Amino acid sequence: MKLALDWRAYDGYGEGDAYAAVPKRGEGFGKAAALCIGSRQCQKARGEAGDKGVMCPSYRIRHDELHSTRGRAALLRRALDGELGEAAFAGPELAAAMDLCVACKGCKRECPNGVDMAALRAETLAQRWLAQPPPRRTRLFATLPQWLPRVAALPGLRGLITLRNRLPLLARLGERLTGIAARRSLPLPAARPFHRRLAAHTADSPHTSHTSHTPHTPQTASTAAANALAAAAAAAPAVPAPREVALLVDCFANHLDPAVAEAGVAVLRAAGLVVHPVVAAAGHAALCCGRAAWSAGFVGQAREQARALLAALAPHLAAGRPVIGLEPSCLSMLRDEINLMGLDAQAVQHLGRQALMLEEYLARELEAKRLALPLQPLPATALVHGHCHQKAFGTLKSMRKLLALVPKLQVQWIESSCCGMAGSFGYEAEHHADSLAMAELALLPAVRAAAPEALLVASGTSCRHQIRDGAQRESMHLAQLLQAALPVPGAPA
Ligand code: SF4
Ligand code: SF4
Repeated sequence: MKLALDWRAYDGYGEGDAYAAVPKRGEGFGKAAALCIGSRQCQKARGEAGDKGVMCPSYRIRHDELHSTRGRAALLRRALDGELGEAAFAGPELAAAMDLCVACKGCKRECPNGVDMAALRAETLAQRWLAQPPPRRTRLFATLPQWLPRVAALPGLRGLITLRNRLPLLARLGERLTGIAARRSLPLPAARPFHRRLAAHTADSPHTSHTSHTPHTPQTASTAAANALAAAAAAAPAVPAPREVALLVDCFANHLDPAVAEAGVAVLRAAGLVVHPVVAAAGHAALCCGRAAWSAGFVGQAREQARALLAALAPHLAAGRPVIGLEPSCLSMLRDEINLMGLDAQAVQHLGRQALMLEEYLARELEAKRLALPLQPLPATALVHGHCHQKAFGTLKSMRKLLALVPKLQVQWIESSCCGMAGSFGYEAEHHADSLAMAELALLPAVRAAAPEALLVASGTSCRHQIRDGAQRESMHLAQLLQAALPVPGAPA
């Protein structure tokens, strides 16, 4: 069996009796599935033994073994043992079991054995696309970072999307043609993406530098890194060098929500940092972590995108700059999934050490007594929803510390699991109801119960979309909330 991902990290597993159920085929992939020992922790109900319940959103809405981590792992082992026939990965059983897995990583965090169904799902999908061509809609979602920059600037596109979002007839026609749910709104690409706004940031501040990237090879990146290091060595500063960070401006922030990237820049600048936004140059495909391709099972494409991003980040890593992420699912690609892609292990480890969510970086600076954010009182209540990958990486603790810095801000947390949007999942016509059912478990009722003046905070693009569609409320990224507490330039202190 030719595997799409690099599962060597699991090589040492399966040596003892506890892992006797390692399948005959699939090597490390099989061993990763065999990590499940069937303890059913992933099927705990809310309130059971005082527990707040398992996070797995598909199990929480279906209460069905097939839609639990355990059920999926068991079926995968049977497929790898040949019990589902020769064409198991193209067959209906595995497709049905993976159908509602939203790759939230809840299992990787909660399962005592760390079963990583999000990664197992990616390999399963990749195997399916080896056996049969992927549907058109899957291709469309997987290649979003390539086509979004091209179509976003098309004249009339914003008008057409607005019309489609207003006219149910047009939305239903769209559903018939594309399989995208008519009841789901489509996001409007920004009239001016972040990379076009960047010049203004650079012009008005010495604390933001232009580092737009055109696609380049690792070799040009290492040349740039060498130059950067040489220049830094020659500079021999007489005063302490300003702290510098690279800010990863993901495809979503660049094209759909540039205000989030602007807020990230503003907050980091207010903290006295020199910010190097990492963003594709105008006219080029987005510099992408590979998330969209990965989620669709296009792992080869995801690998090439991650490789290009690694090259673009090389000069920053060489200069010792932290790489700061705004979108939780993109940052988790750089710390987790990238380890399974078979890329340069040293470069991947280096990136893993320096890639941080905005809240992690700022909380770390706070801990080191280096953070001086001039935050003003914000007399409001903030209702906060954590993205699945923030929960998986434990970054909500950092978020908590930062929100506590804002004077007069009352913070309430929503005890939610996945918002149910999960990238393309919530757009898919056949998944629209399940997507909303996941959101209705906790997120949407909490948002509806919030006072109209409450500030809603959600750092995931998908989560904000689900809140808008499901509760008709706007929410903001953490960076935007912190930005709102910064002094207005020129205003009396
Ligand atoms: S996935 Fe983890 S929690 Fe669920 S049954 Fe398997 S070992 Fe237990
Ligand atoms: S990744 Fe999320 S949805 Fe999939 S099995 Fe794990 S917890 Fe459930």
